[in-house]
Amino acid sequence: MVATTDRIDVAGLASAVADTISAHAEELTALDQAIGDGDHGLNMKRGFEAVRAELPALAGKPLPDALKAIGTKLVMTVGGASGPLFGTLFMTLGKELPVEPSRADFATALGKAIDAVAARGKSQAGQKTMLDVLYPVSEAVAGGKPASEVADIADAAAEATKPMKAMRGRASFLGDRSIGHVDAGARSTALITRAIAETLERGA
Ligand code: ADP
Ligand code: MG
Repeated sequence: MVATTDRIDVAGLASAVADTISAHAEELTALDQAIGDGDHGLNMKRGFEAVRAELPALAGKPLPDALKAIGTKLVMTVGGASGPLFGTLFMTLGKELPVEPSRADFATALGKAIDAVAARGKSQAGQKTMLDVLYPVSEAVAGGKPASEVADIADAAAEATKPMKAMRGRASFLGDRSIGHVDAGARSTALITRAIAETLERGA
Protein backbone atom coordinates (compact mmCIF):
# COMPACT_ATOMS: atom_id res chain seq x y z
CA MET A 1 0.00 0.00 0.00
CA VAL A 2 2.91 2.35 0.67
CA ALA A 3 5.71 2.57 -1.83
CA THR A 4 9.04 1.78 -0.26
CA THR A 5 10.99 5.00 -0.28
CA ASP A 6 8.74 7.52 -2.02
CA ARG A 7 7.85 10.49 0.10
CA ILE A 8 4.20 10.40 1.04
CA ASP A 9 2.02 13.35 0.07
CA VAL A 10 -0.06 13.71 3.23
CA ALA A 11 -1.90 16.74 1.89
CA GLY A 12 -3.00 14.82 -1.22
CA LEU A 13 -4.11 11.87 0.89
CA ALA A 14 -5.98 14.01 3.42
CA SER A 15 -7.79 15.94 0.72
CA ALA A 16 -8.86 12.68 -0.99
CA VAL A 17 -10.22 11.48 2.37
CA ALA A 18 -12.06 14.77 2.95
CA ASP A 19 -13.56 14.51 -0.58
CA THR A 20 -14.99 11.03 -0.03
CA ILE A 21 -16.23 11.72 3.52
CA SER A 22 -18.04 14.86 2.37
CA ALA A 23 -19.47 13.10 -0.70
CA HIS A 24 -20.81 10.27 1.50
CA ALA A 25 -21.89 12.33 4.53
CA GLU A 26 -25.60 11.69 3.92
CA GLU A 27 -25.06 7.95 3.56
CA LEU A 28 -23.08 7.88 6.84
CA THR A 29 -25.78 9.88 8.57
CA ALA A 30 -28.48 7.51 7.31
CA LEU A 31 -26.51 4.50 8.62
CA ASP A 32 -26.12 6.18 12.02
CA GLN A 33 -29.82 7.14 12.02
CA ALA A 34 -30.80 3.48 11.75
CA ILE A 35 -28.98 2.32 14.89
CA GLY A 36 -27.44 5.45 16.47
CA ASP A 37 -28.22 9.15 16.75
CA GLY A 38 -27.69 10.16 13.12
CA ASP A 39 -24.70 12.47 13.58
CA HIS A 40 -21.85 10.39 12.13
CA GLY A 41 -21.91 11.90 8.63
CA LEU A 42 -21.89 15.43 9.96
CA ASN A 43 -19.27 14.62 12.62
CA MET A 44 -16.89 13.15 10.06
CA LYS A 45 -17.50 15.85 7.47
CA ARG A 46 -16.85 18.61 10.02
CA GLY A 47 -13.64 16.86 11.12
CA PHE A 48 -12.14 16.16 7.73
CA GLU A 49 -13.12 19.57 6.32
CA ALA A 50 -11.29 21.08 9.33
CA VAL A 51 -8.29 18.93 8.40
CA ARG A 52 -8.59 20.15 4.78
CA ALA A 53 -8.47 23.76 5.98
CA GLU A 54 -5.13 22.98 7.70
CA LEU A 55 -3.56 21.37 4.64
CA PRO A 56 -1.44 24.33 3.51
CA ALA A 57 0.25 24.26 6.95
CA LEU A 58 0.45 20.46 7.01
CA ALA A 59 2.07 20.11 3.59
CA GLY A 60 5.40 21.40 4.87
CA LYS A 61 5.56 19.10 7.88
CA PRO A 62 7.37 15.77 8.10
CA LEU A 63 4.95 12.81 7.86
CA PRO A 64 4.86 11.96 11.60
CA ASP A 65 4.13 15.57 12.58
CA ALA A 66 1.46 15.93 9.89
CA LEU A 67 -0.29 12.76 11.07
CA LYS A 68 -0.18 13.89 14.71
CA ALA A 69 -1.65 17.26 13.71
CA ILE A 70 -4.43 15.51 11.75
CA GLY A 71 -5.23 13.30 14.74
CA THR A 72 -5.34 16.26 17.10
CA LYS A 73 -7.62 18.17 14.73
CA LEU A 74 -9.97 15.18 14.47
CA VAL A 75 -10.21 14.87 18.26
CA MET A 76 -11.08 18.58 18.46
CA THR A 77 -13.63 18.64 15.64
CA VAL A 78 -15.30 15.28 14.99
CA GLY A 79 -16.81 14.81 18.46
CA GLY A 80 -19.03 11.88 19.39
CA ALA A 81 -17.50 8.52 20.19
CA SER A 82 -15.70 8.32 16.88
CA GLY A 83 -13.70 11.58 17.16
CA PRO A 84 -11.31 10.42 19.91
CA LEU A 85 -11.02 7.00 18.21
CA PHE A 86 -10.10 8.29 14.73
CA GLY A 87 -7.92 10.90 16.48
CA THR A 88 -6.09 8.14 18.35
CA LEU A 89 -5.61 6.22 15.09
CA PHE A 90 -3.89 9.11 13.29
CA MET A 91 -1.97 10.37 16.34
CA THR A 92 -0.56 6.90 17.02
CA LEU A 93 0.38 6.47 13.34
CA GLY A 94 2.25 9.78 13.65
CA LYS A 95 3.99 8.60 16.81
CA GLU A 96 5.00 5.23 15.36
CA LEU A 97 6.01 6.07 11.78
CA PRO A 98 9.47 7.26 10.72
CA VAL A 99 9.76 10.24 8.34
CA GLU A 100 10.12 7.97 5.28
CA PRO A 101 8.40 4.70 6.15
CA SER A 102 8.79 1.43 4.30
CA ARG A 103 5.73 -0.71 3.75
CA ALA A 104 6.82 -2.85 6.71
CA ASP A 105 7.09 0.26 8.91
CA PHE A 106 3.59 1.22 7.84
CA ALA A 107 2.18 -2.23 8.61
CA THR A 108 3.76 -2.21 12.09
CA ALA A 109 2.59 1.33 12.88
CA LEU A 110 -0.94 0.57 11.66
CA GLY A 111 -1.10 -2.47 13.94
CA LYS A 112 -0.04 -0.36 16.92
CA ALA A 113 -2.46 2.44 16.01
CA ILE A 114 -5.37 0.00 15.84
CA ASP A 115 -4.39 -1.51 19.19
CA ALA A 116 -4.45 2.04 20.61
CA VAL A 117 -7.98 2.56 19.18
CA ALA A 118 -9.12 -0.73 20.75
CA ALA A 119 -7.61 0.29 24.11
CA ARG A 120 -9.22 3.72 23.94
CA GLY A 121 -12.63 2.26 23.00
CA LYS A 122 -12.29 -0.74 25.36
CA SER A 123 -13.36 -2.70 22.31
CA GLN A 124 -12.31 -5.62 20.16
CA ALA A 125 -13.13 -7.25 16.82
CA GLY A 126 -16.65 -8.64 16.35
CA GLN A 127 -18.45 -5.86 18.25
CA LYS A 128 -19.80 -4.06 15.14
CA THR A 129 -17.49 -1.03 15.13
CA MET A 130 -14.77 0.58 13.02
CA LEU A 131 -12.40 -2.09 14.40
CA ASP A 132 -14.16 -4.69 12.25
CA VAL A 133 -12.75 -2.87 9.21
CA LEU A 134 -9.46 -1.72 10.73
CA TYR A 135 -8.25 -5.22 11.67
CA PRO A 136 -8.81 -6.79 8.21
CA VAL A 137 -7.20 -3.74 6.59
CA SER A 138 -4.18 -4.07 8.88
CA GLU A 139 -3.91 -7.77 8.10
CA ALA A 140 -4.13 -7.09 4.35
CA VAL A 141 -1.45 -4.40 4.54
CA ALA A 142 0.82 -6.64 6.62
CA GLY A 143 0.21 -9.46 4.13
CA GLY A 144 1.42 -7.31 1.23
CA LYS A 145 -1.90 -7.11 -0.63
CA PRO A 146 -2.06 -4.51 -3.42
CA ALA A 147 -3.87 -1.26 -2.61
CA SER A 148 -6.99 -2.00 -4.68
CA GLU A 149 -7.42 -5.32 -2.89
CA VAL A 150 -7.02 -3.64 0.49
CA ALA A 151 -9.84 -1.23 -0.47
CA ASP A 152 -12.09 -4.13 -1.52
CA ILE A 153 -11.33 -5.98 1.72
CA ALA A 154 -12.33 -2.86 3.66
CA ASP A 155 -15.65 -2.56 1.78
CA ALA A 156 -16.46 -6.23 2.36
CA ALA A 157 -15.52 -5.93 6.05
CA ALA A 158 -17.86 -2.94 6.48
CA GLU A 159 -20.66 -4.89 4.78
CA ALA A 160 -19.92 -7.84 7.09
CA THR A 161 -20.90 -5.73 10.14
CA LYS A 162 -24.55 -5.96 8.96
CA PRO A 163 -25.42 -9.28 10.64
CA MET A 164 -23.41 -8.42 13.78
CA LYS A 165 -24.95 -7.37 17.08
CA ALA A 166 -23.51 -4.09 18.36
CA MET A 167 -21.61 -4.45 21.63
CA ARG A 168 -20.07 -0.95 21.83
CA GLY A 169 -21.25 2.60 21.22
CA ARG A 170 -24.82 3.86 20.99
CA ALA A 171 -25.94 1.02 18.70
CA SER A 172 -25.29 -1.42 21.57
CA PHE A 173 -28.28 0.11 23.41
CA LEU A 174 -30.49 -1.49 20.72
CA GLY A 175 -29.30 -5.04 21.44
CA ASP A 176 -30.67 -7.43 18.82
CA ARG A 177 -32.31 -4.55 16.94
CA SER A 178 -28.85 -3.43 15.84
CA ILE A 179 -28.65 -6.58 13.70
CA GLY A 180 -29.30 -6.05 9.97
CA HIS A 181 -27.65 -2.64 9.57
CA VAL A 182 -24.10 -1.73 8.51
CA ASP A 183 -22.15 0.08 11.25
CA ALA A 184 -21.62 3.74 10.33
CA GLY A 185 -18.04 3.89 11.67
CA ALA A 186 -17.15 0.71 9.80
CA ARG A 187 -18.44 2.29 6.58
CA SER A 188 -16.53 5.55 7.13
CA THR A 189 -13.37 3.52 7.82
CA ALA A 190 -13.84 1.68 4.51
CA LEU A 191 -14.31 5.01 2.69
CA ILE A 192 -11.10 6.38 4.26
CA THR A 193 -9.23 3.19 3.34
CA ARG A 194 -10.36 3.34 -0.30
CA ALA A 195 -9.45 7.02 -0.64
CA ILE A 196 -5.96 6.38 0.75
CA ALA A 197 -5.45 3.17 -1.26
CA GLU A 198 -6.55 4.74 -4.55
CA THR A 199 -4.46 7.87 -3.99
CA LEU A 200 -1.37 5.79 -3.21
CA GLU A 201 -2.04 3.58 -6.22
CA ARG A 202 -2.08 6.62 -8.49
CA GLY A 203 1.40 7.34 -7.15
CA ALA A 204 0.51 10.36 -5.04
P1 ADP B 1 -21.68 8.75 18.59
O1 ADP B 1 -21.90 7.27 18.73
O2 ADP B 1 -21.17 9.35 19.86
O3 ADP B 1 -22.88 9.44 18.02
P2 ADP B 1 -20.48 8.75 15.97
O4 ADP B 1 -21.86 8.60 15.46
O5 ADP B 1 -19.65 9.82 15.35
O6 ADP B 1 -20.48 8.94 17.55
O7 ADP B 1 -19.65 7.39 15.77
C1 ADP B 1 -20.23 6.13 15.95
C2 ADP B 1 -19.25 5.07 15.50
O8 ADP B 1 -18.14 5.01 16.38
C3 ADP B 1 -19.85 3.67 15.52
O9 ADP B 1 -20.50 3.41 14.29
C4 ADP B 1 -18.65 2.77 15.78
O10 ADP B 1 -18.04 2.33 14.57
C5 ADP B 1 -17.68 3.68 16.49
N1 ADP B 1 -17.58 3.36 17.91
C6 ADP B 1 -18.40 3.76 18.90
N2 ADP B 1 -17.96 3.29 20.10
C7 ADP B 1 -16.84 2.56 19.84
C8 ADP B 1 -15.90 1.81 20.65
N3 ADP B 1 -16.04 1.73 21.98
N4 ADP B 1 -14.87 1.20 20.02
C9 ADP B 1 -14.71 1.28 18.68
N5 ADP B 1 -15.55 1.98 17.88
C10 ADP B 1 -16.60 2.59 18.44
MG1 MG C 1 -23.71 8.99 16.18
